[in-house]
Amino acid sequence: MLKSVLIANRGEIACRVIRTAKRMGLRTIAVYSDADAQALHVAQADEAVRIGGPLARDSYLKADAIIEAAKKTGAGAIHPGYGFLSENAAFAQACAEAKIVFVGPPPSAIRAMGGKSEAKALMAKANVPLVPGYHGEDQDPKVLEKAADKIGYPVLIKASAGGGGKGMKVAASKAEFRDQLASAQREAKSSFGDDRVLIEKYLERPRHVEIQVFADSHGNCVYLFERDCSIQRRHQKVIEEAPAPGMTAALRKRMGEAAVTAAKSIGYVGAGTVEFLLDEDGSFYFMEMNTRLQVEHPVTELITGLDLVEWQLRVASDEKLPLAQDQLVLNGHAFEVRLYAEDPDRDFLPQTGRIAHLRFPAENGHVRIDTGITEGKEISTYYDPMIAKLIVWDRDRMSALAQLRRTLGETEIGGLITNTAFLARLAGNKAFAKGDVDTGFIGRHEKELLPSVPAASEDVLLLAATGLLLSERQVSLGDPWSSSDGWRHYGGAHDHLSLIDVSGGQTAHKLVFDYAKDGFVFHLKRAAPIVRASLSVDGRLIADISGRRMAAGFARTGDDIALFLDGISYRLKRAGIAFEDESGEAAALKVTAPMPGRIIAVHVAAGKMVEKGAPLIVLEAMKMEHTLKAGHAGKIEHVGCKSGDQIREGQELLRFAAS
Ligand code: ADP
Repeated sequence: MLKSVLIANRGEIACRVIRTAKRMGLRTIAVYSDADAQALHVAQADEAVRIGGPLARDSYLKADAIIEAAKKTGAGAIHPGYGFLSENAAFAQACAEAKIVFVGPPPSAIRAMGGKSEAKALMAKANVPLVPGYHGEDQDPKVLEKAADKIGYPVLIKASAGGGGKGMKVAASKAEFRDQLASAQREAKSSFGDDRVLIEKYLERPRHVEIQVFADSHGNCVYLFERDCSIQRRHQKVIEEAPAPGMTAALRKRMGEAAVTAAKSIGYVGAGTVEFLLDEDGSFYFMEMNTRLQVEHPVTELITGLDLVEWQLRVASDEKLPLAQDQLVLNGHAFEVRLYAEDPDRDFLPQTGRIAHLRFPAENGHVRIDTGITEGKEISTYYDPMIAKLIVWDRDRMSALAQLRRTLGETEIGGLITNTAFLARLAGNKAFAKGDVDTGFIGRHEKELLPSVPAASEDVLLLAATGLLLSERQVSLGDPWSSSDGWRHYGGAHDHLSLIDVSGGQTAHKLVFDYAKDGFVFHLKRAAPIVRASLSVDGRLIADISGRRMAAGFARTGDDIALFLDGISYRLKRAGIAFEDESGEAAALKVTAPMPGRIIAVHVAAGKMVEKGAPLIVLEAMKMEHTLKAGHAGKIEHVGCKSGDQIREGQELLRFAAS
């Protein structure tokens, strides 16, 4: 058995591999970029080696630096995770030459499946079914168009070197073909530096069903059943499940055996996934083989009770596969959802920023959370914006789906926009519950899946305002607010607070309130509820609104507020700053960065008096300039930034005392 392993990856997959390797008694070595010095995978490994700058090409893609780190630490093996160098044959080769075990297939197998066209040619030879199509060398547009005519429209044009849905275009008819071809070639060239394409019959309502295979170096190869990954957006997976809904034992066997044939035909060793398109009539076609562990491997682990990373490490140690095909048992049903920092309302635009608040349901026999991130960390532009994978299991699909809904409802992520609510709607969708899935599902159900967050109710506003006031006290008193003791009567002091309901249509609400004995009295139009509340340091807001007890999650980054109530994540923003501290005197007011960016100009210095509305700082963010102005007249106490500084969202830029 191997004694040590270096994990050439980051985030949740590095943490995932470390977990199993440690359990098996291996010494674990992490590598990290400068952006990840404080990351979870670094903390979890026995040792960690810095390999370079934050850009992937300066660190996680730097084969030499990684092999050097392995040599320096005496690592017996390198596990590449997924992404980065996991499907790089030259890297696998370099490991072999350095006498380090590469936890993956031999370089020849990676090469065989590397190009889509070449892989398809090989599969045709091995009698694995293919979507009718053209994957020839000749790239003359006339030849390609003729091939498309022969296949029959609609056709799909795919980048031969493609991945992640890039360079993929549909031509619905002959009239569209040339334009779509040019567009696919342009994308292929810019993404992969290779504009070769292949052409396939475009299936109208296919499902994406993939088979997990495993082979050892003694000639054994098995399939660990299937995963259905049909729920996709922009050809990328959103929800994965195992087994596939409606799968019959006979079809499973046929697909499983075809996948094993595919793996054997290229001398495969280790964990791999053979992806198929499953057509409505039950025919299935080889799409590609991923020669590594997949993001969605946990659903297979939950229905088989196996640890695939353990199998990988055993196979890499030249052991035989632990089980034969007839010893593998499929038990229950599992779902995985990928929680991303992205905005479903803006075509799933990736988001960056600090995770101000992070709460997952407890893990147990039904719930598993794979993550590489903790509260307070940044989702940066350097890497994939995945925050975590939520995986659930139960004895059948309906029960597992109920687990998924519950788990999503208990997940709170604040500080940036995520797809959590979108996933919750998917999990609650009727057609999805029926198992009526195909790759066009999200597109077809867009209207039901993308309704905006409801407008903030009175309760939401009261909770957000209360959370904000309590968190101000945490900041200004410098100690966690843990009980509701010690409220003082403010002798008629009253104040107001303006909140903008960002997620509910940008409506502004002005809340007038008084400090009561042990809480706040809000003066609303029809009532004056008393709110007594406590806010724990980890963002749990327990409130009593005129006798009604409510619990919510609360997080803030500067003036941005996230409130989690009944599974809905509301976003609000404070407009104008108005808070008086205990003595009744104006507290120091902070100006924080509303978004990440660069300081272009600082117009004030400490000691200077400013009028309300005076420009303080100019910030460049997202290629636009934003001027931050004084919300009050006052005196500048401290300036914490200078021209040229890169700043984080929520970072304090200056403080002043209102006059
Ligand atoms: P990539 O490597 O870029 O991820 P794939 O070849 O794996 O590309 O295909 C990704 C997705 O595109 C599939 O899961 C499926 O949704 C869709 N797709 C691929 N080929 C076809 C086809 N011939 N007809 C219809 N949809 C397809």
